[in-house]
Amino acid sequence: MAKTFVFKFGGASVKDAESIKNLYEIVFNRLRNNTIIVVSAMGKTTNALEEILALKLAGKSYSTNSTKIMEFHLKICEELFDLGSLIFPTVKNYFSQLDRILEGDLTQGNYDSFYDSVVSFGELVSSRIVQEYLCAKGLFCIWQDAREVIRTNSDFRFAKVDWEATVKLCEKIVTPKLAQFPVVTQGFIGADEKGRTTTLGREGSDFTASILAHGMRASAVTIWKDVDGVLNADPKRFPDAVKFDELDYKEAAELTYYGASVIHPKTIKPLANLSIPLYVKSFIHPDRSGTKIHHVHPVNTVPCIVVKDEQILVSFKVTDFTFINESHIHSVYTELEKLKLRVNLLQISAISISIVIEKELFKLEKLIQNQRNQFEIRYNENLQLITVKNHNPSLMDELMQNKEVLLEQTTRTTFQVLVKNSHI
Ligand code: ASP
Ligand code: MG
Repeated sequence: MAKTFVFKFGGASVKDAESIKNLYEIVFNRLRNNTIIVVSAMGKTTNALEEILALKLAGKSYSTNSTKIMEFHLKICEELFDLGSLIFPTVKNYFSQLDRILEGDLTQGNYDSFYDSVVSFGELVSSRIVQEYLCAKGLFCIWQDAREVIRTNSDFRFAKVDWEATVKLCEKIVTPKLAQFPVVTQGFIGADEKGRTTTLGREGSDFTASILAHGMRASAVTIWKDVDGVLNADPKRFPDAVKFDELDYKEAAELTYYGASVIHPKTIKPLANLSIPLYVKSFIHPDRSGTKIHHVHPVNTVPCIVVKDEQILVSFKVTDFTFINESHIHSVYTELEKLKLRVNLLQISAISISIVIEKELFKLEKLIQNQRNQFEIRYNENLQLITVKNHNPSLMDELMQNKEVLLEQTTRTTFQVLVKNSHI
Protein backbone atom coordinates (compact mmCIF):
# COMPACT_ATOMS: atom_id res chain seq x y z
CA MET A 1 0.00 0.00 0.00
CA ALA A 2 1.24 3.49 -0.81
CA LYS A 3 2.55 5.42 2.17
CA THR A 4 0.72 8.42 3.58
CA PHE A 5 2.23 11.81 4.40
CA VAL A 6 0.51 14.31 6.66
CA PHE A 7 1.07 18.07 6.42
CA LYS A 8 -0.28 20.42 9.04
CA PHE A 9 -0.73 24.14 8.51
CA GLY A 10 -1.57 26.22 11.60
CA GLY A 11 -3.43 29.52 11.87
CA ALA A 12 -0.35 31.66 11.13
CA SER A 13 0.31 29.78 7.87
CA VAL A 14 -3.19 30.54 6.54
CA LYS A 15 -3.68 33.99 8.02
CA ASP A 16 -4.11 35.86 4.70
CA ALA A 17 -4.22 35.37 0.93
CA GLU A 18 -0.40 35.52 0.60
CA SER A 19 -0.01 32.76 3.17
CA ILE A 20 -2.45 30.54 1.32
CA LYS A 21 -0.56 31.09 -1.93
CA ASN A 22 2.58 30.10 -0.05
CA LEU A 23 0.81 26.99 1.26
CA TYR A 24 0.02 26.04 -2.33
CA GLU A 25 3.70 26.41 -3.31
CA ILE A 26 4.81 24.24 -0.41
CA VAL A 27 2.29 21.52 -1.16
CA PHE A 28 2.78 21.64 -4.93
CA ASN A 29 6.55 21.29 -4.66
CA ARG A 30 6.38 18.40 -2.24
CA LEU A 31 3.28 16.56 -3.29
CA ARG A 32 3.55 12.82 -3.10
CA ASN A 33 0.80 10.38 -3.81
CA ASN A 34 -1.02 10.09 -0.55
CA THR A 35 -1.02 13.42 1.22
CA ILE A 36 -3.38 14.59 3.94
CA ILE A 37 -3.42 18.34 4.53
CA VAL A 38 -4.67 19.41 7.95
CA VAL A 39 -5.49 23.08 8.41
CA SER A 40 -6.37 25.28 11.38
CA ALA A 41 -8.64 28.28 11.47
CA MET A 42 -7.23 31.34 9.71
CA GLY A 43 -5.10 33.65 11.86
CA LYS A 44 -6.83 34.48 15.11
CA THR A 45 -10.28 33.30 14.06
CA THR A 46 -10.71 30.91 17.00
CA ASN A 47 -10.08 33.75 19.46
CA ALA A 48 -12.56 35.92 17.58
CA LEU A 49 -15.18 33.16 17.81
CA GLU A 50 -14.48 32.82 21.52
CA GLU A 51 -15.14 36.55 21.87
CA ILE A 52 -18.54 36.09 20.24
CA LEU A 53 -19.32 33.37 22.74
CA ALA A 54 -18.29 35.63 25.62
CA LEU A 55 -20.60 38.37 24.31
CA LYS A 56 -23.46 35.95 23.92
CA LEU A 57 -22.89 34.61 27.42
CA ALA A 58 -22.99 38.17 28.76
CA GLY A 59 -26.24 38.80 26.88
CA LYS A 60 -24.58 41.41 24.64
CA SER A 61 -24.84 41.88 20.91
CA TYR A 62 -22.30 39.99 18.81
CA SER A 63 -23.58 40.60 15.26
CA THR A 64 -20.86 43.13 14.36
CA ASN A 65 -18.27 40.59 15.46
CA SER A 66 -19.65 37.77 13.36
CA THR A 67 -19.97 40.04 10.32
CA LYS A 68 -16.33 41.02 10.80
CA ILE A 69 -15.17 37.41 10.81
CA MET A 70 -17.17 36.69 7.65
CA GLU A 71 -15.75 39.75 5.91
CA PHE A 72 -12.23 38.77 6.89
CA HIS A 73 -12.71 35.42 5.11
CA LEU A 74 -14.49 36.92 2.10
CA LYS A 75 -11.70 39.44 1.64
CA ILE A 76 -9.12 36.67 1.57
CA CYS A 77 -11.27 34.89 -1.03
CA GLU A 78 -11.44 38.02 -3.18
CA GLU A 79 -7.66 37.91 -3.46
CA LEU A 80 -7.59 34.22 -4.29
CA PHE A 81 -10.57 33.53 -6.55
CA ASP A 82 -12.46 34.90 -9.54
CA LEU A 83 -15.55 36.76 -8.45
CA GLY A 84 -17.79 34.08 -9.98
CA SER A 85 -16.23 31.34 -7.81
CA LEU A 86 -18.53 29.14 -5.79
CA ILE A 87 -16.39 29.78 -2.74
CA PHE A 88 -18.28 33.03 -2.07
CA PRO A 89 -21.74 31.50 -1.54
CA THR A 90 -20.06 28.59 0.28
CA VAL A 91 -18.39 30.88 2.82
CA LYS A 92 -21.57 32.94 3.25
CA ASN A 93 -23.51 29.76 3.78
CA TYR A 94 -21.18 28.71 6.60
CA PHE A 95 -21.72 32.02 8.31
CA SER A 96 -25.49 31.83 8.06
CA GLN A 97 -25.30 28.37 9.63
CA LEU A 98 -23.13 29.84 12.38
CA ASP A 99 -25.64 32.66 12.95
CA ARG A 100 -28.41 30.13 13.28
CA ILE A 101 -26.45 28.17 15.88
CA LEU A 102 -25.64 31.36 17.75
CA GLU A 103 -29.32 32.23 17.98
CA GLY A 104 -29.83 29.02 19.98
CA ASP A 105 -30.46 28.87 23.68
CA LEU A 106 -27.30 29.04 25.76
CA THR A 107 -27.70 27.92 29.32
CA GLN A 108 -24.70 27.20 31.53
CA GLY A 109 -25.35 23.46 31.33
CA ASN A 110 -24.65 23.14 27.64
CA TYR A 111 -21.97 25.80 27.29
CA ASP A 112 -19.13 23.43 26.37
CA SER A 113 -21.02 21.71 23.58
CA PHE A 114 -22.29 25.07 22.34
CA TYR A 115 -18.68 26.31 22.37
CA ASP A 116 -17.56 23.38 20.19
CA SER A 117 -20.30 23.82 17.65
CA VAL A 118 -19.37 27.50 17.32
CA VAL A 119 -15.55 27.50 17.30
CA SER A 120 -15.42 24.59 14.84
CA PHE A 121 -16.56 26.99 12.10
CA GLY A 122 -13.07 28.50 11.99
CA GLU A 123 -11.59 25.24 10.77
CA LEU A 124 -14.55 24.34 8.55
CA VAL A 125 -14.37 27.58 6.57
CA SER A 126 -10.60 27.67 6.44
CA SER A 127 -10.27 24.11 5.11
CA ARG A 128 -12.93 24.81 2.47
CA ILE A 129 -11.08 27.87 1.22
CA VAL A 130 -7.77 26.02 1.09
CA GLN A 131 -9.26 23.03 -0.75
CA GLU A 132 -11.02 25.26 -3.29
CA TYR A 133 -7.87 27.25 -3.85
CA LEU A 134 -5.71 24.18 -4.43
CA CYS A 135 -8.33 22.88 -6.90
CA ALA A 136 -8.49 26.26 -8.65
CA LYS A 137 -4.71 26.09 -9.08
CA GLY A 138 -5.07 22.68 -10.72
CA LEU A 139 -4.05 20.65 -7.71
CA PHE A 140 -7.19 18.62 -7.37
CA CYS A 141 -7.97 17.48 -3.83
CA ILE A 142 -10.91 16.29 -1.77
CA TRP A 143 -12.41 18.04 1.27
CA GLN A 144 -12.99 15.74 4.19
CA ASP A 145 -15.08 16.61 7.22
CA ALA A 146 -12.82 15.58 10.14
CA ARG A 147 -15.92 14.87 12.21
CA GLU A 148 -16.57 11.81 10.08
CA VAL A 149 -13.14 10.43 10.96
CA ILE A 150 -11.98 11.66 14.38
CA ARG A 151 -14.26 9.92 16.86
CA THR A 152 -14.16 11.21 20.41
CA ASN A 153 -16.02 10.92 23.69
CA SER A 154 -18.47 13.67 24.65
CA ASP A 155 -16.08 15.63 26.82
CA PHE A 156 -16.78 18.86 24.92
CA ARG A 157 -13.86 21.30 24.60
CA PHE A 158 -11.41 18.63 25.82
CA ALA A 159 -12.63 15.59 23.93
CA LYS A 160 -10.67 12.35 24.22
CA VAL A 161 -10.02 10.30 21.12
CA ASP A 162 -11.65 6.92 20.67
CA TRP A 163 -8.63 5.36 19.01
CA GLU A 164 -10.18 2.09 17.96
CA ALA A 165 -13.10 3.76 16.21
CA THR A 166 -10.88 6.45 14.69
CA VAL A 167 -8.40 3.96 13.21
CA LYS A 168 -11.32 2.06 11.65
CA LEU A 169 -12.82 5.27 10.25
CA CYS A 170 -9.46 6.25 8.79
CA GLU A 171 -9.32 2.97 6.91
CA LYS A 172 -12.92 3.07 5.83
CA ILE A 173 -13.25 6.73 4.85
CA VAL A 174 -9.83 8.23 4.26
CA THR A 175 -7.93 5.36 2.61
CA PRO A 176 -10.18 5.06 -0.48
CA LYS A 177 -10.21 8.84 -1.02
CA LEU A 178 -6.46 9.16 -0.59
CA ALA A 179 -5.92 6.47 -3.18
CA GLN A 180 -7.31 8.96 -5.69
CA PHE A 181 -6.51 12.49 -4.52
CA PRO A 182 -4.88 14.41 -1.66
CA VAL A 183 -7.29 15.09 1.17
CA VAL A 184 -7.77 18.46 2.90
CA THR A 185 -9.29 18.34 6.36
CA GLN A 186 -9.66 20.31 9.59
CA GLY A 187 -7.51 20.19 12.67
CA PHE A 188 -8.90 20.55 16.18
CA ILE A 189 -12.39 19.12 15.60
CA GLY A 190 -14.03 15.72 15.88
CA ALA A 191 -17.41 14.25 16.73
CA ASP A 192 -18.81 12.01 19.41
CA GLU A 193 -20.79 8.82 18.86
CA LYS A 194 -23.97 10.82 18.32
CA GLY A 195 -22.31 12.94 15.65
CA ARG A 196 -22.12 16.06 17.84
CA THR A 197 -19.16 18.32 17.15
CA THR A 198 -16.36 18.17 19.70
CA THR A 199 -12.95 19.86 19.94
CA LEU A 200 -9.64 18.51 21.19
CA GLY A 201 -8.50 21.54 23.22
CA ARG A 202 -7.03 24.84 22.05
CA GLU A 203 -4.17 24.54 19.58
CA GLY A 204 -5.22 20.96 18.98
CA SER A 205 -4.60 20.83 15.22
CA ASP A 206 -1.11 19.38 15.63
CA PHE A 207 -2.71 16.59 17.58
CA THR A 208 -5.20 15.97 14.73
CA ALA A 209 -2.28 15.57 12.31
CA SER A 210 -0.77 13.05 14.65
CA ILE A 211 -4.05 11.16 15.14
CA LEU A 212 -4.55 10.85 11.38
CA ALA A 213 -0.92 9.81 10.87
CA HIS A 214 -1.39 7.14 13.50
CA GLY A 215 -4.68 6.00 12.00
CA MET A 216 -3.21 5.82 8.51
CA ARG A 217 0.15 4.39 9.67
CA ALA A 218 1.73 7.28 7.82
CA SER A 219 5.39 7.58 6.82
CA ALA A 220 5.85 11.07 8.24
CA VAL A 221 4.13 14.18 9.57
CA THR A 222 5.32 17.71 8.80
CA ILE A 223 4.13 20.64 10.89
CA TRP A 224 4.70 23.96 9.08
CA LYS A 225 5.52 26.77 11.51
CA ASP A 226 6.70 30.38 11.55
CA VAL A 227 9.95 29.26 13.21
CA ASP A 228 12.80 27.21 11.74
CA GLY A 229 12.07 24.15 13.86
CA VAL A 230 12.31 23.26 17.53
CA LEU A 231 14.75 25.58 19.29
CA ASN A 232 16.29 25.21 22.75
CA ALA A 233 14.48 28.38 23.88
CA ASP A 234 11.98 30.89 22.54
CA PRO A 235 14.05 33.10 20.20
CA LYS A 236 11.88 36.11 21.07
CA ARG A 237 13.09 35.87 24.66
CA PHE A 238 16.55 34.39 24.03
CA PRO A 239 18.08 35.68 20.80
CA ASP A 240 20.91 33.13 21.02
CA ALA A 241 18.53 30.18 20.87
CA VAL A 242 19.71 27.32 18.68
CA LYS A 243 17.69 24.99 16.51
CA PHE A 244 17.83 21.23 16.94
CA ASP A 245 18.42 19.26 13.74
CA GLU A 246 16.93 16.26 15.47
CA LEU A 247 15.37 15.52 18.80
CA ASP A 248 14.23 12.37 20.54
CA TYR A 249 10.48 11.84 20.95
CA LYS A 250 10.80 11.78 24.75
CA GLU A 251 12.79 14.98 24.90
CA ALA A 252 10.34 16.77 22.60
CA ALA A 253 7.38 15.53 24.61
CA GLU A 254 8.97 16.72 27.83
CA LEU A 255 9.64 20.18 26.42
CA THR A 256 6.03 20.53 25.31
CA TYR A 257 4.91 19.39 28.76
CA TYR A 258 6.88 22.21 30.37
CA GLY A 259 5.23 24.69 28.03
CA ALA A 260 7.30 24.86 24.84
CA SER A 261 4.52 25.97 22.54
CA VAL A 262 6.06 24.89 19.26
CA ILE A 263 4.01 21.68 19.19
CA HIS A 264 0.92 20.61 21.05
CA PRO A 265 1.83 18.30 23.97
CA LYS A 266 -0.37 15.44 22.81
CA THR A 267 1.21 15.27 19.36
CA ILE A 268 4.22 13.11 20.13
CA LYS A 269 2.84 9.95 21.69
CA PRO A 270 0.69 8.58 18.81
CA LEU A 271 3.67 9.08 16.48
CA ALA A 272 6.32 7.67 18.82
CA ASN A 273 4.24 4.53 19.34
CA LEU A 274 4.48 3.75 15.63
CA SER A 275 7.94 5.32 15.09
CA ILE A 276 6.49 7.87 12.66
CA PRO A 277 8.94 10.79 12.29
CA LEU A 278 7.69 14.30 12.92
CA TYR A 279 9.27 17.18 11.02
CA VAL A 280 8.87 20.73 12.28
CA LYS A 281 9.65 23.11 9.45
CA SER A 282 9.37 26.76 8.53
CA PHE A 283 6.68 27.79 6.04
CA ILE A 284 8.72 30.95 5.46
CA HIS A 285 11.88 29.01 4.54
CA PRO A 286 10.48 25.66 3.49
CA ASP A 287 13.78 24.47 2.00
CA ARG A 288 15.58 24.65 5.34
CA SER A 289 15.99 21.36 7.10
CA GLY A 290 13.86 22.05 10.21
CA THR A 291 13.85 19.61 13.11
CA LYS A 292 13.28 15.89 12.82
CA ILE A 293 11.71 14.32 15.91
CA HIS A 294 12.24 10.57 16.05
CA HIS A 295 14.16 7.95 18.06
CA VAL A 296 17.54 9.53 18.75
CA HIS A 297 20.42 8.03 20.73
CA PRO A 298 22.14 9.36 22.68
CA VAL A 299 19.63 11.99 23.74
CA ASN A 300 20.31 15.71 23.65
CA THR A 301 22.33 17.32 26.44
CA VAL A 302 22.03 20.95 25.29
CA PRO A 303 20.22 23.02 27.94
CA CYS A 304 16.62 23.92 26.97
CA ILE A 305 14.74 26.80 28.54
CA VAL A 306 10.96 27.07 28.67
CA VAL A 307 9.29 30.16 30.14
CA LYS A 308 5.63 30.33 31.11
CA ASP A 309 4.02 33.64 31.98
CA GLU A 310 0.86 34.43 33.95
CA GLN A 311 1.32 31.68 36.48
CA ILE A 312 -0.47 31.56 39.82
CA LEU A 313 0.98 30.05 42.98
CA VAL A 314 -1.67 28.66 45.32
CA SER A 315 -0.77 27.35 48.76
CA PHE A 316 -3.04 25.25 50.90
CA LYS A 317 -2.04 25.26 54.53
CA VAL A 318 -3.53 22.92 57.13
CA THR A 319 -4.93 24.85 60.05
CA ASP A 320 -5.58 22.22 62.69
CA PHE A 321 -2.01 21.38 63.78
CA THR A 322 -2.00 18.17 61.73
CA PHE A 323 0.45 17.45 58.91
CA ILE A 324 -0.19 17.11 55.21
CA ASN A 325 -1.22 13.54 54.40
CA GLU A 326 -2.53 11.61 51.40
CA SER A 327 -6.13 12.63 51.94
CA HIS A 328 -5.23 16.34 51.74
CA ILE A 329 -3.38 15.76 48.49
CA HIS A 330 -6.20 13.63 47.19
CA SER A 331 -8.76 16.28 47.99
CA VAL A 332 -6.84 19.06 46.22
CA TYR A 333 -6.09 16.91 43.18
CA THR A 334 -9.67 15.68 42.84
CA GLU A 335 -10.82 19.28 42.76
CA LEU A 336 -8.16 20.21 40.20
CA GLU A 337 -9.22 17.35 37.99
CA LYS A 338 -12.86 18.39 38.18
CA LEU A 339 -11.92 21.91 37.17
CA LYS A 340 -9.58 20.66 34.42
CA LEU A 341 -6.74 22.65 35.92
CA ARG A 342 -3.26 21.35 35.26
CA VAL A 343 -0.50 21.65 37.82
CA ASN A 344 2.74 23.00 36.40
CA LEU A 345 4.71 22.61 39.62
CA LEU A 346 3.94 20.92 42.93
CA GLN A 347 5.69 21.20 46.27
CA ILE A 348 4.64 19.59 49.53
CA SER A 349 5.91 20.53 52.96
CA ALA A 350 4.89 19.36 56.42
CA ILE A 351 1.98 21.76 56.67
CA SER A 352 1.25 22.96 53.16
CA ILE A 353 0.71 22.00 49.54
CA SER A 354 1.84 24.52 46.94
CA ILE A 355 0.77 24.31 43.33
CA VAL A 356 1.48 26.43 40.28
CA ILE A 357 -1.35 26.73 37.77
CA GLU A 358 -2.30 28.77 34.71
CA LYS A 359 -4.24 31.98 35.14
CA GLU A 360 -7.89 31.01 35.00
CA LEU A 361 -9.42 33.19 37.64
CA PHE A 362 -12.89 31.79 37.41
CA LYS A 363 -11.55 28.31 38.18
CA LEU A 364 -9.26 29.58 40.91
CA GLU A 365 -12.24 31.08 42.68
CA LYS A 366 -14.05 27.74 42.57
CA LEU A 367 -10.98 25.89 43.79
CA ILE A 368 -10.66 28.19 46.78
CA GLN A 369 -14.34 28.04 47.54
CA ASN A 370 -14.39 24.25 47.60
CA GLN A 371 -11.24 23.77 49.67
CA ARG A 372 -11.45 26.53 52.19
CA ASN A 373 -13.09 24.43 54.87
CA GLN A 374 -9.92 22.31 55.07
CA PHE A 375 -7.11 24.77 54.41
CA GLU A 376 -5.98 28.32 54.79
CA ILE A 377 -5.46 29.31 51.17
CA ARG A 378 -3.25 32.03 49.74
CA TYR A 379 -2.31 32.86 46.22
CA ASN A 380 0.08 35.03 44.20
CA GLU A 381 -0.56 36.14 40.64
CA ASN A 382 1.55 37.31 37.67
CA LEU A 383 4.43 34.93 38.21
CA GLN A 384 6.79 33.40 35.73
CA LEU A 385 7.76 29.74 35.70
CA ILE A 386 11.16 29.04 34.21
CA THR A 387 12.07 25.45 33.44
CA VAL A 388 15.55 24.41 32.39
CA LYS A 389 16.13 20.93 31.07
CA ASN A 390 19.79 19.80 31.21
CA HIS A 391 20.64 22.62 33.56
CA ASN A 392 24.07 23.78 34.65
CA PRO A 393 25.06 26.08 37.54
CA SER A 394 26.16 29.07 35.48
CA LEU A 395 22.96 29.12 33.41
CA MET A 396 20.85 28.89 36.56
CA ASP A 397 22.75 31.77 38.15
CA GLU A 398 22.28 33.84 35.05
CA LEU A 399 18.54 33.15 34.88
CA MET A 400 17.93 33.91 38.54
CA GLN A 401 19.88 37.13 38.64
CA ASN A 402 17.87 40.01 40.17
CA LYS A 403 14.76 37.92 40.52
CA GLU A 404 12.64 37.29 43.53
CA VAL A 405 12.29 33.53 43.82
CA LEU A 406 9.13 32.05 45.32
CA LEU A 407 9.65 28.38 44.66
CA GLU A 408 12.47 26.26 43.36
CA GLN A 409 12.76 22.61 42.46
CA THR A 410 15.66 20.64 41.04
CA THR A 411 15.95 17.09 39.76
CA ARG A 412 18.95 15.46 38.14
CA THR A 413 18.05 16.87 34.71
CA THR A 414 15.46 19.57 35.32
CA PHE A 415 15.49 22.81 37.22
CA GLN A 416 12.31 24.81 37.79
CA VAL A 417 11.98 28.17 39.41
CA LEU A 418 8.97 30.38 40.02
CA VAL A 419 9.81 34.07 40.06
CA LYS A 420 8.20 37.46 40.53
CA ASN A 421 8.69 40.60 38.44
CA SER A 422 10.67 38.96 35.72
CA HIS A 423 10.80 40.29 32.19
CA ILE A 424 12.49 37.57 30.21
N1 ASP B 1 -7.82 26.93 15.74
C1 ASP B 1 -7.62 26.22 16.98
C2 ASP B 1 -7.01 27.15 18.02
O1 ASP B 1 -6.62 28.25 17.65
C3 ASP B 1 -6.81 24.99 16.80
C4 ASP B 1 -5.38 25.22 16.37
O2 ASP B 1 -5.04 26.30 15.90
O3 ASP B 1 -4.58 24.29 16.47
O4 ASP B 1 -6.92 26.78 19.14
MG1 MG C 1 -5.42 28.35 15.71
